[in-house]
Amino acid sequence: MRYADVIIDISLEKLDKTYQYAIPEHLSETAVVGAKVEVPFGGGNRKLEGFIMDTSDTPVFDPARTKEILCVVQGAVSLERRSIALAYWMKEHFGGTMNEALKTVLPVKQEVRNLKKRTIVRIAAPEAFEAYYALAVKRKYEARLRLLDALKEKTELDYTEAEQKLKLTTSTVDAVCRDGIVCVREETVYRNPAKGLQATEKPRLNEEQKTAVETVWSDYAAGKRGTYLLFGVTGSGKTEVYLELIERVIREGKQAIMLIPEISLTFQTVRRFYERFGERVSVLHSRLSAGERYDQYVRARNGEIDVMIGPRSALFTPFERLGLILMDEEQEGAYKSEGTPKYHARETAQYLAELTGASLILGSATPSLEAYTRAKNGEYRLLTLTRRAKEAVMPKVEIVDLRQELAEGNRSMFSRKLKELMGERLARGEQVMLFLNRRGYAGTVSCRSCGEGLKCPHCDISLTFHKGGKLLCHYCGYETTQPKTCPSCGSKYIGLFGTGTQKVEEAVLREFPGTSVLRMDADTTKNKGGHERIAEAFSKGEAQVLIGTQMIVKGHDFPRVTLVGIIAADLSLYAGDYRAAERTFCLLAQAAGRAGRDKLPGEVVIQTYQPEHYSIVTAATEDYEGFYTQEMAYRRLLRYPPTTHVLAVLIQGEEESTAKKAAVELAGILQAARKPEEGFGTISGPVPAGLAKANDMYRFLIYIKSAKYERLMEFHRLAAQQKLLTESSMKCNIQFDFNPFNGY
Ligand code: ADP
Ligand code: ZN
Ligand code: ZN
Repeated sequence: MRYADVIIDISLEKLDKTYQYAIPEHLSETAVVGAKVEVPFGGGNRKLEGFIMDTSDTPVFDPARTKEILCVVQGAVSLERRSIALAYWMKEHFGGTMNEALKTVLPVKQEVRNLKKRTIVRIAAPEAFEAYYALAVKRKYEARLRLLDALKEKTELDYTEAEQKLKLTTSTVDAVCRDGIVCVREETVYRNPAKGLQATEKPRLNEEQKTAVETVWSDYAAGKRGTYLLFGVTGSGKTEVYLELIERVIREGKQAIMLIPEISLTFQTVRRFYERFGERVSVLHSRLSAGERYDQYVRARNGEIDVMIGPRSALFTPFERLGLILMDEEQEGAYKSEGTPKYHARETAQYLAELTGASLILGSATPSLEAYTRAKNGEYRLLTLTRRAKEAVMPKVEIVDLRQELAEGNRSMFSRKLKELMGERLARGEQVMLFLNRRGYAGTVSCRSCGEGLKCPHCDISLTFHKGGKLLCHYCGYETTQPKTCPSCGSKYIGLFGTGTQKVEEAVLREFPGTSVLRMDADTTKNKGGHERIAEAFSKGEAQVLIGTQMIVKGHDFPRVTLVGIIAADLSLYAGDYRAAERTFCLLAQAAGRAGRDKLPGEVVIQTYQPEHYSIVTAATEDYEGFYTQEMAYRRLLRYPPTTHVLAVLIQGEEESTAKKAAVELAGILQAARKPEEGFGTISGPVPAGLAKANDMYRFLIYIKSAKYERLMEFHRLAAQQKLLTESSMKCNIQFDFNPFNGY
């Protein structure tokens, strides 16, 4: 008798372990590792589904009382062994249940019938056809005659088209088919947008690009696998390096996964891959239908494609011969999942690369502090591109002090400098981009005179405005009321930040009547393809000014833009978490990189209330090293990643007192488990979460910090068990987030 260890397909901690079932004889072929099966569960033998994690010959309990698997679920997509290993690793490293991890690594759940292309084909010999035609005339078979008439002109008709145009029903076609006049041919067609794109000549790589490619390739050819950080300024030709490496890997018979943050997954980018690799490329994105997604999965599994491009979930493409994983813009927050498990694609990709014997290339113009630190430590190999690939020179950048503008009586959204430059460009018929660093502006308070944001005295993090005038720290729970005047300079111009893209548009039209303006923001890109349509229109010159949030700075290449204006660079500095400065630097550097992409020289104006802030000063000169040094000093001082690791534990309950009790108990247990040795980590909290109540749940937080990730995993294991033990914790929902990206 064979036995199977099954994970039940319900994401409950209580069921987060395998259950052993016997495999009946008739299922011995199909009930294998990875298969989805139906089993009787619990005292009532409720029928539940689950996945087989492992099989063996040894029963754990009395074989006579071990239940049997009922059946293998028809049409379910099964897991591969590698996915199971990956899921286990993700659960351990990022929390959540095994079932949640399995669902994450399984990119499609259910078979979706393939699209079939059906063609009506005339098969009868001419005499038979004529005879049949005459008969149809005599019997007044109007519908059949419409079909036969069409078949006189063309011997093959597209089924769907014929059905619509000739107003045929299936039964008419069936009848003619039965009479042996036509047959219906069916072919499986895969939905692929690559059709019709021509290969373009590839550029000759410059010396820096060649060095990058050869460094990776000489390792690869020697059988060495590793992680590389390709650090190249915007427009330095990173994508060409990716393309070249992918091409070489494919030549070796291997496959590649190219990760791109969803926001920059534009047709412009994807087209370059299509042009190079044609039908062997597939793209995953959020707008695909279930059927399209399934097609991609099948084609990948069958080895019909060599390259999968997509956001973080593309990591789970079932390639058998994975040779290379590439991750563009590795610093992007989009690579961290917000669902459970809250995995980061970078770490997950690194583990997947180890599992499969692939190499990993991380690319960025502004690497995350994590990646750059590892590159400095020698954990990653650093490859650099220091110059723009095309002749284009780096843009001229100017910082404008908005406090000065205010002092001199300019209360408009545009500084005098920006207005002057905009006027020039518009008169010359060149294009302008206005970037509103909106993310995180909502709810942060700052002084318009001195530029200081109001910060928590314990955490050096911006306080967030809550209803009723309360200001809260999202990290430690510190609370205060909004002051009437600025604590730094005494000015009364203190208030909530808030400028929308619409207001910017109004201001442009007020200053420059008759200007054609396009807006790209959450509102205008709601519809399918909205984002692309706007980019396309702007790139065709249908508008002179493009206004947008961070969407406009990602992935687009507009050759006629010669001026980029950043309306208020500080907005993202007050986002209320420790990554705010990093995000600001990155957004500003990227926005600046949009100007002067081609022959025309570019200029950038950064408007700010804090012209001396290091993230702004360094971004203006694309001085990554300078930014890195100062930001790391800050992180080290306050013990934030990457100088340490953080595990956030979020405890949520319907009753405030119960949630608080559970949180206090849990913190106590974690404290007790701390060993007094050096580096064992610190535990702080519980404190009410920044968002203290959400969806009618009260939220409390515990933060665990340790330089060693393994310590956090130990604490996580302990806390996950504890969750099931006390009465109050059983009433709560407890979530874990390793090295969180967003505040709670
Ligand atoms: P990145 O990915 O670093 O932003 P890209 O690969 O998109 O840079 O390159 C920027 C522009 O320069 C693109 O239009 C690309 O076609 C062009 N380019 C890249 N490498 C070369 C090269 N070696 N010779 C000429 N043009 C190049
Ligand atoms: Zn002030
Ligand atoms: Zn605080």
